[in-house]
Amino acid sequence: MDVDSRKKWLRLKLLTQIAVIFILTATLFVQSLYGRLVWGHVIHWGIGSLIAYGIIELIYRKYYSLNQRLAEQLLQSERRIHNQKALIDLSSSLATLRDEEQICRTAIQTLEQEIGYQRAYIILQEQGSGKRRIFSHSAELPKEPELKQISNFRGEPLSSPSQTSSLPSSSQPATAVLRIRAPLRNATAHFGQLMVASQRTNPFTPEELSVVYAVANLVSISLQNVFHYKEQQRRQSEAEQRQRELAQREQSLALLNQITREALQARSFHSMITALSDQICHLFSADTCLFALWDEQQKYPLIYHAHGYQAEWINSPLREPALKVLGSALVNSERVIPIAEPSISPWINPRLVERLESQSLLALPLIADERKLGVILISYRIRHAFSPMELAFGEQAANQIALAISKEHALEIAQHRAKELDALQKATTALLSTLELEALLGQILDAAISAIPAAEAGLLHLVVPETGELQVRATQAGEASRIRLFKPTAVESYSARAVRHRRPFLIEDIQMEDSVGVEADFPDMPLISSLIVAPLLTEERVYGALSLGSTHKAAFTPADLRLLTSFAATATTALRNAQLHAAVQQQAITDPLTGLYNRRGFWDLAEHELLRAHRFHRPLTLILIDIDRFKEINDTYGHLMGDKILAAVSANCRAELRQVDIVARYGGDEFVVLLPETSLQEALPAAERLRTRIADLRFPHNGEVISTTICVGLAELQAGDTLKALIERTDQALYRAKQSGRNQVGVASLTHLS
Ligand code: GH3
Ligand code: MG
Repeated sequence: MDVDSRKKWLRLKLLTQIAVIFILTATLFVQSLYGRLVWGHVIHWGIGSLIAYGIIELIYRKYYSLNQRLAEQLLQSERRIHNQKALIDLSSSLATLRDEEQICRTAIQTLEQEIGYQRAYIILQEQGSGKRRIFSHSAELPKEPELKQISNFRGEPLSSPSQTSSLPSSSQPATAVLRIRAPLRNATAHFGQLMVASQRTNPFTPEELSVVYAVANLVSISLQNVFHYKEQQRRQSEAEQRQRELAQREQSLALLNQITREALQARSFHSMITALSDQICHLFSADTCLFALWDEQQKYPLIYHAHGYQAEWINSPLREPALKVLGSALVNSERVIPIAEPSISPWINPRLVERLESQSLLALPLIADERKLGVILISYRIRHAFSPMELAFGEQAANQIALAISKEHALEIAQHRAKELDALQKATTALLSTLELEALLGQILDAAISAIPAAEAGLLHLVVPETGELQVRATQAGEASRIRLFKPTAVESYSARAVRHRRPFLIEDIQMEDSVGVEADFPDMPLISSLIVAPLLTEERVYGALSLGSTHKAAFTPADLRLLTSFAATATTALRNAQLHAAVQQQAITDPLTGLYNRRGFWDLAEHELLRAHRFHRPLTLILIDIDRFKEINDTYGHLMGDKILAAVSANCRAELRQVDIVARYGGDEFVVLLPETSLQEALPAAERLRTRIADLRFPHNGEVISTTICVGLAELQAGDTLKALIERTDQALYRAKQSGRNQVGVASLTHLS
């Protein structure tokens, strides 16, 4: 009961007492007016007043205490209702919450604001790690005594929330900080505590304790629910994740199978790579997929094929040559490499990144049996974060592709070997089938070009032994058109380089070479862009060089060069045999004493010239020369002197006549000369010059000077003449010269033809 109502009650009681005493006094006064007042009345007034005062005092005291108790009970039940309502509100708000922090803060707010505790805290202890989280309504952390309480907390049974004071009870002042702690727990474990603190005089009532107990209970249940909810969520998402992974694994397995199938079905290595780059681009939803293959010689992965954005340009033979190279580090990695910032990556050519407009890259190194095979580059023009699943799939795909490439490589090597054997077989057949040098040279070139499909043109150079110069001896350019040139290539050429350094080489891009142009090698094909050259050599000698060219850049592989080199070795053997054979043939038509053609040699060449002269109606004159009285020289000065004179006459014939004139020793001391494109009138002065030239020759011998003369017979080709007939007519002219007294020129008469 408050002070005001108490005062009101006291006033009312005093007024009642005064009123009763006043009534009694008034009664006494009335009796005294009528004179009936006796001392007995006064005594009665006194006693009656005392009794009335006492009764009133008693009644009012009883009533007052009853009223007070009722008021207190009302207050308590109001508070209980308020608390119950707060608990119900708390319970319904906690039911909607799914977050530990929100639950704790809501409970604290209810305890502090609704139920009226000064401070409330909730401490949660993580199972296993033992980590504690402290929640309070205000931002301030618990003060020292609270912290001590928290650290002392071991988790008392929930049925007995404890109540403590911060000071010993003996010295407890009028007000002290009192606390209630209640454990937060489920059926099996404690996981925290709830604590409230208030500065007050009275200890907490059972009612207050039970409110804390109820809030702790509600918080425990809610936290437990959250825990269960989260656990359920986690399990559900785990199950979903597992389901997704399973589906993705199934999908990747199907894709990997597709890759394997594609690789197996491909008809060639190129078609396999083309199909795979298309598929990888599609599978990764990438903008460009680029295949680069490891080049063992250059120790770099070279771009082989691309699919997608900029593929046309990359696959073009005209693309920038510097871009064909990727960083070798990419291939050395055992794992897939996601490159988030391709523009600053040291592994990729920045010009390529720029061209592909790459924002994200994934590099899949291709390694099989510890052998580097190349790398696949997957490029995106927008930023792309690679999921672990994508990386795992990329790794599997790379393994599968590496295996397919390595199998295809093995097949390619086997095919190359077969091609090599075939080419060598062809060369051997050429060797066996022909000893005729010119035909052989053509066959060698044909076989080389057919064994190396990249070749569009071919050249065969031979070294001229006398001068060391190179001569083009066989060419093939364009569509099986073969022309033969016989001109020395004095300028620096790739063939000359191969001959000089005695080693084969491959030129991928002639434009990148600044020292030598291709004009010297392929004068009729200025568009040649790449070539391979192998020298034709034995240990002792270089015979020439075999060159193959293509209008495409980088058309030849190192394997092609190896094939050409081994082919060149067989071709050299064939060539040497043909040259030996040609030498033997030459010997058969050459006179050993003078070095001129013998009668057989002359006959073959002369017949050919005769045919030509007849066909084109060209003039042709034959000359026969016989040394005068040569028998006497032999007899007088000996055979050696005779041989000397024979050699001198032949040398002077050669010197006096034109290069195209065929000079031969016809037998004994007789020489024959065929002058193509020459009439009798033209030949006559030459014959005269020759006669005087021989006559002017002087041969010193044992202190003597010997001289000699010749007789010359001339006859011009007539229509229908055979070689035999022409020689006979010339012989007759010679005979007439001899008859005329020697050192003469005789001309065949034409009269007999008319
Ligand atoms: P003529 O003026 O009539 O031609 O008289 P000749 O002595 O030259 O007679 P003929 O042409 O018949 O004689 C050819 C001689 O050439 C006979 C042979 O002893 C000689 N003779 C042939 N071959 C050789 C050879 O290789 N060396 C040498 N030293 N003499 C040869
Ligand atoms: Mg003679």
